[in-house]
Amino acid sequence: MKRKMRLIGIMALVASVAAAIYGLGVFNGESGKGQSLTKEAEAAGGRVTSPTAAAPNRYAYYPGTEELGPDEMRVVACGTGMPSARHGQAATCFLVELGNGDKFFFDLGAHSMGNVASLMIPYDYLDKIFLSHLHTDHWGDLASLWAGGWTAGRSAALKIWGPSGAIPEMGTKYAVEHFLKAYNWDYQTRVGNLADEPGQIRVTEFDYKGENIVVYEENGVTVRAWPAIHSGDGAVSYALEWNGFKFVFGGDSFPNKWFIEYAKNADLAIHECMHLPEQLMRKYNMAPLVALIVSTKIHTSPQAFGKIMSTIKPKHAVAYHFFNEAETRYEIFAGVRETYDGPLSMAADLMTWNITRDGVEERMATVTEEAWSVPGSVPPPPNEKGDNPNKWFTEEIRSGAWDVRDAEGRMLKKYMDKYNLDPAMLQPKR
Ligand SMILES: [Zn+2]
Ligand SMILES: [Zn+2]
Repeated sequence: MKRKMRLIGIMALVASVAAAIYGLGVFNGESGKGQSLTKEAEAAGGRVTSPTAAAPNRYAYYPGTEELGPDEMRVVACGTGMPSARHGQAATCFLVELGNGDKFFFDLGAHSMGNVASLMIPYDYLDKIFLSHLHTDHWGDLASLWAGGWTAGRSAALKIWGPSGAIPEMGTKYAVEHFLKAYNWDYQTRVGNLADEPGQIRVTEFDYKGENIVVYEENGVTVRAWPAIHSGDGAVSYALEWNGFKFVFGGDSFPNKWFIEYAKNADLAIHECMHLPEQLMRKYNMAPLVALIVSTKIHTSPQAFGKIMSTIKPKHAVAYHFFNEAETRYEIFAGVRETYDGPLSMAADLMTWNITRDGVEERMATVTEEAWSVPGSVPPPPNEKGDNPNKWFTEEIRSGAWDVRDAEGRMLKKYMDKYNLDPAMLQPKR
């Protein structure tokens, strides 16, 4: 009797263990295949012990929800694509944020400001831009940062660092001077309503032939530049060093000896990695020879990118400058893996890297599609110059104004009463 009881007990135990295993999903009764999903899920996100508890790691970066540690660097890819526009991927732009509060742009390619704005960082903190070269896919969204940030409350001028050119007309100074001339109507019609200073751009141009020269040194941060080989003289690459960390940003370039020499010992090394010739031909409408030249002579092929990274051995390598999608990324990845087997990110817009003493963590940022600008700690300065934006109206145009006071009168009165505004202020200044 006692033995029988023990047997029943053992059988009950076996049955309950089997049920528990089945319940945990270790054994899938339908397919008959063993599974280890439960174990992996626990390992991945951490155990959720209550139906009302928060789940731990989401593997995503939600901008604005994490403080940056004093000993930490964060890099956000705000553009990683190609010169032709694409809704889902902007052109080159990397934002580097340091634990000391400094933030730096490396390139500001076309369309990238949508990604930048989605991070909801006050424009006051986004005033330093380092340009690798003057192709539109590397500085084409300057207008959006310049005018957009100005209207949204930036309190100081933008500061741009960039290379000289083979002749003055091919340098950064010339480009920005004439950028401002091209946008003169924009400037003239805003200044007055907005203060003048945040509408200014100060340029520091340095010798593009300088090898590992210091182009910026402030607040414990050193930025160095060296030449790149891309489409003509005047392209450069950069390294930013701070607090024992080294960030390297290679602008467009054919593989070159300077990058091999000066990009060594990087925590994060970003370098272009162009589409394979076949992809440029198939998807980018290039003739076979043009595709070959673009992929392997003007830029760096995946195989060559891999050789570079195998040589400089960064803690973490980042490949960018290709439209990153299912049809392209695996071929490019395979090309890189022919020559490099170290840590690697295939950059996409809003990919984020946190760099600490423990290493480099890659995540994707999750952002709102409907971000607004965030006020900073410094209010925009007053309009000291006293410019009158209405001075660009002639009587001929102004007198064409149609009377809508009957339509908006009630709304206007309510608003002016609420904010104690004098209706006389609405009269055009002369
Ligand atoms: Zn380029
Ligand atoms: Zn480019």
